[in-house]
Amino acid sequence: MPQLKVLISREQIAQRVAEMGAEITRDFSGESVIFVGVLKGASIFLSDLARHVDLDAAFDFIGVASYGNRPSPAQELISGWDSTGEVRLTKDVDQSMRDKNVILVEDILDTGLTLTYLTKVLLAHQPKALRVATLLDKPSRRKQPMEANYVGFRIPDEFVVGYGLDYAERYRNLPDICVLPRQA
Ligand code: 5GP
Repeated sequence: MPQLKVLISREQIAQRVAEMGAEITRDFSGESVIFVGVLKGASIFLSDLARHVDLDAAFDFIGVASYGNRPSPAQELISGWDSTGEVRLTKDVDQSMRDKNVILVEDILDTGLTLTYLTKVLLAHQPKALRVATLLDKPSRRKQPMEANYVGFRIPDEFVVGYGLDYAERYRNLPDICVLPRQA
């Protein structure tokens, strides 16, 4: 395993995720929530976040892929291409979201294409409330005006891996969030 530069340490992540959990607990006091994690990157964040939320809660997962000309994050890393394409659903939620408090949990908000698409999909399920929690936010890369309700860390335009985030399916198990150097 190459030595990667740590951008956000496991201790910083743990502290911030606990704070986000406390915020959600306060905001939905006395109510139930459904966490909807975006596969696969948000799975570790969701499992840590949910354990800091002291509410009646259920889990669900949703899957997305990119259409046609949108490069994968891995391709962007190599070529420096921009994301211009569209997103499609590969797995819908399993349970009804109707009249429920839904918290969509994402690993990173980048161009905003994925969350813009997913919020539309979930709003079609007619939830009582829909909130977005993202561990990371790269505001400088935005192409759609999307903001999350709960943001862990705002980061610069670097390609990051670890704590669920991958490069070609690797590095998801790193406990820290690390920078993968772009090729020259
Ligand atoms: P968006 O649709 O906002 O451009 O991108 C969101 C998705 O792009 C994330 O769920 C993630 O899969 C991927 N992504 C964006 N930036 C990064 C990054 O720095 N590292 C990794 N591993 N994935 C990223």
